[in-house]
Amino acid sequence: MGAPWLGWSCGECRYCAAGRENLCPFARFTGYTLDGGYAEYAVADARYVLPIPDGYDSAAAAPLLCAGLIGYRSYRIARREMLGNRLGIYGFGAAAHILIQIALRDGMRVFAFTRPGDYETQDYARGLGAWWAGGSDQTPPEPLDGAILFAPAGETVPAALRAVDRGGVVVCGGIHMSDIPSFPYSILWGERVVRSVANLTREDGAAFFERVRLFKVETHTTPFPLEQANDALEALRTGKLHGAAVLVP
Ligand SMILES: [Zn+2]
Repeated sequence: MGAPWLGWSCGECRYCAAGRENLCPFARFTGYTLDGGYAEYAVADARYVLPIPDGYDSAAAAPLLCAGLIGYRSYRIARREMLGNRLGIYGFGAAAHILIQIALRDGMRVFAFTRPGDYETQDYARGLGAWWAGGSDQTPPEPLDGAILFAPAGETVPAALRAVDRGGVVVCGGIHMSDIPSFPYSILWGERVVRSVANLTREDGAAFFERVRLFKVETHTTPFPLEQANDALEALRTGKLHGAAVLVP
């Protein structure tokens, strides 16, 4: 079993009642307001854990529970608005390397945006099947139908709005982001939408794990011993590793 980010919700507030327990103000989160995210053993509420499908060992499954899930919720929400199959992904890290595999399976054409000048990550994205890869300051060769932002950089919001066509959607998948620079209304006009995504519901978890059960996602992981958690965070922050870092107790 795997314990995802959402570890508990109240079940009684108006968000829980509306099926949006991801917004529950009383929700508790693994490794944040619930102990056990950085430990050898943890107690988890059985109603919130997810069965790991066959074919995934612990290291391969770990990124599915966080990066995989938030990416999938972002993707589902983007797809509801998208009029075509041109999907931009800004920030090509742990979430993106899982999501691209699912999006390609759905017939999406993925346009990967990295930090300007990060040619290595652009090659990595192309190797995973990206239709096009470039810097977040670049204009894609054709307009996009939707974009998902995993990069915590506020300037990617107006960049993505400029890249999406009329009716396009820009979904911000991160918890934090630097301030968004001001931008002209003209890049939002044409019924373009900007929205954020927060946490996950159990329904997202069930849907995502059903997908990865039917279709094996290859996760690229770099293991770190639990004692080296800070080194793992530093490697992620500086973009030194591709895919996901996994702490091994
Ligand atoms: Zn609630």
